[in-house]
Amino acid sequence: MSKIIIIGAGIGGLTSAALLQQAGYQVTVLEAQSYPGGCASTYYHQGFRFESGATVVGGFQHNGPHALIENQLNMKFPVRRHDPAWVTHLPDRSVALTADNTDVLKKFPNTAKFWQQQQTIAALAWELSAQCLPFPPRSSTEMLQLIKVGLRNFPQDLRIIPFAFMSVYQWLKWHGLHKDQTFVRFLDAQLLISAQTTSRYVNALYGATALDLARQGVFHIETGIGGIAQALVEKIQSLGGDVQYRWRVNRIEVQQGRAIGVYARRGKHAQTDEFFPADFVIANTTPWDLHTFLAENSPKRLRQEVNKRRLGWGAFVLHLGVKSDAFPPDFPDHHQIITDMDSPLGETKSLFLSLSPTWDTSRAPAGQRAMTITTHTHVSQWWELLNRNPEAYAAKKADYTERILTTVEQLIPGFRDKLTLVLPGTPVTYHFYTARHLGMVGGFPQTSLFKARSPRTGIPNVRLVGDSIFPGQSTAGVTLGAIRVAEDVKRHLAITPIFANQSQVEKLSWQ
Ligand SMILES: Cc1cc2nc3c(=O)[nH]c(=O)nc-3n(C[C@H](O)[C@H](O)[C@H](O)COP(=O)(O)OP(=O)(O)OC[C@H]3O[C@@H](n4cnc5c(N)ncnc54)[C@H](O)[C@@H]3O)c2cc1C
Repeated sequence: MSKIIIIGAGIGGLTSAALLQQAGYQVTVLEAQSYPGGCASTYYHQGFRFESGATVVGGFQHNGPHALIENQLNMKFPVRRHDPAWVTHLPDRSVALTADNTDVLKKFPNTAKFWQQQQTIAALAWELSAQCLPFPPRSSTEMLQLIKVGLRNFPQDLRIIPFAFMSVYQWLKWHGLHKDQTFVRFLDAQLLISAQTTSRYVNALYGATALDLARQGVFHIETGIGGIAQALVEKIQSLGGDVQYRWRVNRIEVQQGRAIGVYARRGKHAQTDEFFPADFVIANTTPWDLHTFLAENSPKRLRQEVNKRRLGWGAFVLHLGVKSDAFPPDFPDHHQIITDMDSPLGETKSLFLSLSPTWDTSRAPAGQRAMTITTHTHVSQWWELLNRNPEAYAAKKADYTERILTTVEQLIPGFRDKLTLVLPGTPVTYHFYTARHLGMVGGFPQTSLFKARSPRTGIPNVRLVGDSIFPGQSTAGVTLGAIRVAEDVKRHLAITPIFANQSQVEKLSWQ
């Protein structure tokens, strides 16, 4: 039986692990932390269960990525819907994003045609993605599969073609909406959190699905978002697979161009690495981290990629304990706050705020709620400060905390007096807890479909999974990516004995 090692128990790693274990391979997941989930985990601190990153989950609709996994693995994630998905607070208006889009249409009455088109395009995109789209295709088999899906959905799928070649901004221009600054800002705020960049740069097809979240439904996970990862771990174990915690992988061993296993060290105190042999290795990491694992065996293209690629976003986070009586009755659990209309978003100018639901008493001590507030931030500035002047780093952290609390106080008067706990975190913190290069989170901006990153690594039996590969970030996005990786690995392991020299097969393409 072929042995597969998966480095990291993020949603991407665990989903591919479960699918491959179900397919009959012997899977071992090695996770550096003592809990699963990575950026979508829940941790315990002083009676609170805080979400480390992700707080809102989509993809449970019919044909949605999480629903596909539930069907395939015969399991159920413990979810409860939250409508409105969230409320966006702009300087001059607040807009509730609901499944029926009523408030959006009320606050932006000239946008009905845009939303009609968005729904049609997004529905088609979901339909196609549920048919196992190996995008971007990197072998003749994947290209054939893509053509098959195209033909099966012909001619409806022709409607999405123009959107594959334009940005959201060009699409807005088509509707004459690009000059409506408030509407553009409203969309930009949503796109930044779901596509990692704004309307001028986001591909329109990608943007249409990213803007579909409220319509498809947003969910809480009972006991916190880490429940998704926990349910996947239990599934892997029940299928006979293995998930091992506190094992940090340091190296992927390569001989004659193929991975033969990984070296990992258990806990903080072990003196030596142990070797885990493998026929296939999947890294639930960024390309930079993969490059480090491969060291001198890192293929030329991967070296070039990590030297040339622009760094992605990081996050500044506040985990707060708040007394429940700080909030008015029926206060929704999720809010997006945009402080002005001109500054670039992120760096405390746009915030996403999530509260533990009142029905989930596991998340906070009695009479309190757990709150997560995040803002996009550039990672390098934090590392430069930390290395050059730790006091300045601490001061910047305090400054961001202060700015965020001041903004929230305007939305919820008296909020500061109700705080019982304040825990700030920077990209340095994310690096510590997720081992992601420089603490970058959320994958790459989704600008061009034709530059999307595939799971290929340049080593025939090594793949990437997670939010660095298409379609990128979110628990739903990485789940789709993981389905594609599992199919790719199955194909690879099935054909390995037939081709004497596997590298010939892989020469078809790389990235
Ligand atoms: C602040 C923030 C807010 C977000 N909000 C949302 C949201 O509301 N909704 C949503 O859907 N998504 C959201 N996301 C995005 C979502 O959380 C991520 O895209 C997704 O969880 C990433 O999954 P992944 O598979 O890439 O793995 P990751 O989460 O990156 O996990 C990788 C795992 O690998 C482990 N690991 C790394 N290196 C090693 C090693 N050497 N050895 C062993 N183990 C290792 C790490 O410890 C970690 O557990 C948010 C992310 C952040 C940071």
